[in-house]
Amino acid sequence: MSLQDKMRERARELLESGAVNMVIGWEKGTFWYLSPPAFITTPEEADRLVWDEFCLNNLSKYLLDYRNTDDKIALFVKGCDSRNVVRLLQDNQFPRERLYLLGIKCPGLKDSRAASLLGEEKRAELPLAPKCVGCTHPEPVIYDELLEAGVSGDLGSPEKRFEDVEKIEAMSYDERYAFWVNAYARCIRCYACRNVCPACDCRECIFDRTQTGWCGKQMGLTQNMFFAITRALHVAGRCTECGECERVCPQRLPIMTLNRKIIKELNALFGPYEAGVSLEAKPPVVEYRPDDPDFEERR
Ligand code: SF4
Ligand code: SF4
Repeated sequence: MSLQDKMRERARELLESGAVNMVIGWEKGTFWYLSPPAFITTPEEADRLVWDEFCLNNLSKYLLDYRNTDDKIALFVKGCDSRNVVRLLQDNQFPRERLYLLGIKCPGLKDSRAASLLGEEKRAELPLAPKCVGCTHPEPVIYDELLEAGVSGDLGSPEKRFEDVEKIEAMSYDERYAFWVNAYARCIRCYACRNVCPACDCRECIFDRTQTGWCGKQMGLTQNMFFAITRALHVAGRCTECGECERVCPQRLPIMTLNRKIIKELNALFGPYEAGVSLEAKPPVVEYRPDDPDFEERR
């Protein structure tokens, strides 16, 4: 039985038995290279579910839409999705008892932007999705049952994780500044990066509170950079490198380079840490330790 058939079967069974009242997976979108999220609430709808090389969306973000309901939700999770589920559980954003996790060993997915340009006849030759390059955990880190992958593909190369960061670090100060100015001058502040990010789980975002005067609504380099740096620091220690922010950016900004620079610095300062891999391990910038040397110095 193919993975897609197993997904449909399990979704149908879970809904029929009343174990859950919603299954979140993927379905075919408007184009052959898109497989957006699907919200399945009846057993009859289970056949809408698909599994193919374009199931790129990280589904964990949608749990936030149901955090104040009584819904019991089954969620399909690849490695990256599962890490964000761990983060949401750690942040008490969703109760584990209302969640049923169907794990998928991800074989590495394909670049839907390249697919849109190259056409369906090149489907077999598509490059790995940028968000999958450098992936360290293709297998789910948390699940209630594990389903096998149904398509074959190239897994990411974890050694490439900091490749882009190192290229920027090798530049002079002026070159680095020019790199980021050129990038963020193009930002249109659509907030797609924030809206898709499962680590952006604040109930009210600072960038929607215009009356505070922290950041104006108008686009402009300084405001754009203030937004970029603030968001990157807000997810510091909580970013799972799922790559969704960069995938959805219509301006194709190098958001992951900024995220990974912060991760690299945190690793250097506090020791190696990967967000969302363990339920027990606390993120470096949220843990309080009375024996922290900085704390001692300030006393
Ligand atoms: S998705 Fe891209 S263009 Fe939109 S706000 Fe984020 S960085 Fe700017
Ligand atoms: S900042 Fe980007 S890579 Fe990090 S968790 Fe959010 S969407 Fe994923």
